[in-house]
Amino acid sequence: MAQRFLMARPLTDEVVARARAEFDVEIRTETSVLTQDEMIRALQEFDVVMPTLGDVFGADVFAAVPNPRCKLLANFGVGFNHIDVAVAEANGVAVTNTPGAVTDATADIALTLILMSARRAAEGERLVRTGDWPGWHPTQMLGEHVTGKKLGVIGMGRIGEAIARRCHFGFGMEVFYAARSDKTPGFDVTRVADVKSLAAAVDFLVVAVPGGAETRHLVDVDVLAAMQPNAHLINIARGEVIEQAALIAALEQRRIGGAGLDVYEFEPEVPQALRDLDNVTLLPHLGTATEEVRSNMGHMVLDNVAAFFAGQALPNLV
Ligand code: NAP
Repeated sequence: MAQRFLMARPLTDEVVARARAEFDVEIRTETSVLTQDEMIRALQEFDVVMPTLGDVFGADVFAAVPNPRCKLLANFGVGFNHIDVAVAEANGVAVTNTPGAVTDATADIALTLILMSARRAAEGERLVRTGDWPGWHPTQMLGEHVTGKKLGVIGMGRIGEAIARRCHFGFGMEVFYAARSDKTPGFDVTRVADVKSLAAAVDFLVVAVPGGAETRHLVDVDVLAAMQPNAHLINIARGEVIEQAALIAALEQRRIGGAGLDVYEFEPEVPQALRDLDNVTLLPHLGTATEEVRSNMGHMVLDNVAAFFAGQALPNLV
């Protein structure tokens, strides 16, 4: 029986061309997340499936397919908190991801958000677009200076370090971090005991930990309360890491300087309360959204699929 591969989203042209050339592949044309029925069919009818963000392969889906034909979920993306990896493994399904390919692009979006939030760029752009800009004056739209300020990174992994590197070398910032282990990136960084102490110490607090049960609401009402009134909170990781309702309250009451978000707790829903606020910058999960990065991620998925079909070790087993 030919080995079958399901791609749950269309990818870039070059990745689609390679997938068609190398595999017996079905490429779903919809860009929406997989339905429960589609996930069940995926496990039943394909040897390998490429899921991505929003495709919730939870225990219920695996329970519905006791002996899945699928033996590999080759996830498109480094974050895999939408897959219950323990249950997948218990059902004989391996999981791979795309680490590294996403690092620089996601760090770039963090810097975009730091600068936009600090310098009120989105608010200013809206002002110009509405035709209400009265012209320059010395006390107009005063934001927060970035160069030389203190950066706090929650989760100093690949992306967290790439953000720290940009802030240290590009903006002369002092870098602090909270993590589970000591990091030595090759430039000065200071580990802080916990997230709350980190929040109290810095001007820009950036979330770069994986999502999932362990990090859910790591930035909660107490952490937000510890932040300085001028400080900005940036999230390029996963929405659920921040207690979104508490963040909205802090922004509404002007208890922090601002926030820059690429991800949301109940994505793709973005609450009206957030959309009504001028002191938050809202991006539509743009972290890795460039043609070449999405192609690199796609090739990484296909490398894992090829290794699996060849019976070789999986390069990016999670
Ligand atoms: P990574 O290299 O695995 O780094 C994650 C870091 O988080 C590690 O350093 C880890 O610490 C730390 N960590 C994990 N749990 C923690 C906890 N409970 N408290 C403190 N630190 C903790 O992953 P990455 O490649 O940098 O990616 C990070 C996340 O970014 C992904 O999981 C994904 O969800 C998100 N992401 C978002 C976008 C986007 O489009 N916005 C794009 C790519 C990735 P240790 O080193 O001590 O284990």
